[in-house]
Amino acid sequence: MVDREAQGDPLAAHLRERLPGAKVEILDDARRYLSSGSRASDSLVLMRRRGAFVKDFPQTPGTPPCGEKYIIPMMNCPYSCSYCYLRSYLEHRSVVIFTDTGRMKEETARAIAEDAPRFMTTGEMSDSLALDDLTGTTLDLLPLFEGSSTLLEARTKSDNVKHLLAAADDPSRLSSGSEPAGSLLDRLLVTWTLGPEEMMEREEPGTASLGARLDAICALRGAGIKTGVRLDPIIPAYADIASYGRLLDGLKEAAGGNGIYRFELGALRFPSGLLESVRETVPRSPILRGEFLRDREGKLRLYRPSRVSLYREIAGLVLQRFPEASIELCMESSSVWEDAGIEPLVCSPGTQRPQPLS
Ligand code: SF4
Repeated sequence: MVDREAQGDPLAAHLRERLPGAKVEILDDARRYLSSGSRASDSLVLMRRRGAFVKDFPQTPGTPPCGEKYIIPMMNCPYSCSYCYLRSYLEHRSVVIFTDTGRMKEETARAIAEDAPRFMTTGEMSDSLALDDLTGTTLDLLPLFEGSSTLLEARTKSDNVKHLLAAADDPSRLSSGSEPAGSLLDRLLVTWTLGPEEMMEREEPGTASLGARLDAICALRGAGIKTGVRLDPIIPAYADIASYGRLLDGLKEAAGGNGIYRFELGALRFPSGLLESVRETVPRSPILRGEFLRDREGKLRLYRPSRVSLYREIAGLVLQRFPEASIELCMESSSVWEDAGIEPLVCSPGTQRPQPLS
């Protein structure tokens, strides 16, 4: 579905060319269509964005500043993770692709120049790579990062990396100015969300299998592209330590002992409305198991001592296999970092690697 005002935008034309068999409907008002609560998870809506394309992550009180921003080229994704916070955030199921990419690039370039964040990710409101071979977003944005200290981070649960490998093989696919493509790809970090295999199979319908994600990590490492790993969410019902040990053994085999740029750990949390929505749709879901308490922002979080103990154990497993790993916690206060034995970090603008808080 294409909003009338977006019809002539280059990305809309490009997608119609790439999807020649797709049925196209022109909408007079895509916003009204979406707010009517579309449940069509298999439809793409192409439209211009009204709000900002670049945003700061909301900061949980007491957390170390993350030095990161996110870009919103899309909203929603073709997958159906049971714990996806977008289920409670969006009023529809459609995948929305924003076509006014010129403004997105202007805002991104301005944020890099003015704030020099450590990372800018396209994976906060969607899966960065699920449709990236069609949209071309990653390779379109990457030249903006040339010569900066900021990394573009794609976050994914897909194995859709052939177009990135092709760019690594053939520099002419990257529209860089003067910098050779090799060093431009150095500005890219592709981060996979991983978890125990049973959890991925049951709770992340439609995503790539564990084996396919590890193969993709291996292929990108082979092409010299930085890779990261998010162990987030850690779901209590699946958090047995032997499963994480097996997962990390497989990761080490795929990436090598120094192959992961950074690890991020985060325990399952439910923003307002999500727990209720899961209870309503899957009342016996394993993700509901555990003791969750409401924090000051209204999120339900796993009981603190349980989180700390999970972080300690899993960080220990990571360090056994990746002794040089940089480990960060997602949306946790400095005191949780300390109790988990992970040094809180400070990020000054313009620095790539955060420094321990001294
Ligand atoms: S991949 Fe991310 S955006 Fe897509 S359904 Fe899963 S959690 Fe949500």
